[in-house]
Amino acid sequence: MTFSRRHPPLIVFLTILGLMPFRPAALGAQQWSVHDMDRPTPPLVDPGSAGRPPSDAVVLFGGEDLSQWRMKDGAPAKWKVEKGYFEIVPGSGDLVTARTFGNCQLHLEWATPAVPKGEGQERGNSGVYLMGRYEVQVLDSYRNRTYADGQAAAIYGQFPPLVNASRAPGEWQEYDIVFHRPRFGEDGELVTPARMTVFHNGVLVQDDVELLGATVHGQRATYAAHPDRLPLILQDHGNPARYRNIWLRELPER
Ligand code: MG
Repeated sequence: MTFSRRHPPLIVFLTILGLMPFRPAALGAQQWSVHDMDRPTPPLVDPGSAGRPPSDAVVLFGGEDLSQWRMKDGAPAKWKVEKGYFEIVPGSGDLVTARTFGNCQLHLEWATPAVPKGEGQERGNSGVYLMGRYEVQVLDSYRNRTYADGQAAAIYGQFPPLVNASRAPGEWQEYDIVFHRPRFGEDGELVTPARMTVFHNGVLVQDDVELLGATVHGQRATYAAHPDRLPLILQDHGNPARYRNIWLRELPER
C-alpha cells in the first residue's frame, strides 16, 4: 500500500483511532517477547566488596599512586600520597584525570581534616567536578552552617542535598554518583541537560536531578557546548581534604 505525499502515514491514523499506541521510547523493550530466552543476558561483573571495585571499573586511585592524575597544566600530580589515601596540598591546584569520561558511575571516598578549621565554605572544602564542569560539593557539613546549595553533597549553586548525611570531620565518607552528560546540537544549543543521582554514605541525596548548567560561584548556571568526553577534576579549595578508593564505570548512552 502506498500513500501520496499529502496523506499522513498509516501509523498516524491508527494512533488517532487508538488502535496503535505510538510510544517510540518503548519500542526497544518491545522487540523481545516477555521472558524471551533469546534475549541477551547482561555481562557478568564481579561486584567487588568493601574497598574493592567492581571488575569492570576504571580504578582512578587504588591506594598506591596518582598515575591516573595530572595537574591542569599536564605536570605530574602534586598532591601527597599517604598510606592508602592522598591529600590535597593547598595551593598546588586542581587534580585532573589523564583519561576522559562522559556518562559514568563514580565511587569515591573522602575525609575532611579531623581537627576542623574555618567556618562555612572554608571548612574542608573541595569538590568533585564531573566532566570538569559539574561540581558535587565536598565540605565538612557536620554542624557547620553554610548556604544550602553549597553544603556537602550539594550540586554546587543549584541543588541542596535532600538530607544532610554527613559524618564527623576526619571520618571517611562516600559518594556514589550516577552522571549522564548533557547533549548539544550541531550549533551548540542544549538538546538534553546533564542528570545526576548522588548517594552520600549510602543515603540518596540527589534524585536524578536535571542540572541547570556548569558550576559557577554566585551566579545562575548556564550551559556552554563542550565535548562528549572530558576529564574528572578534584578541586583544591585551599583545605587539606583527603581522598581514597576512587573508581568509575563508564555507562552507555541512553
Ligand atoms: Mg568545592
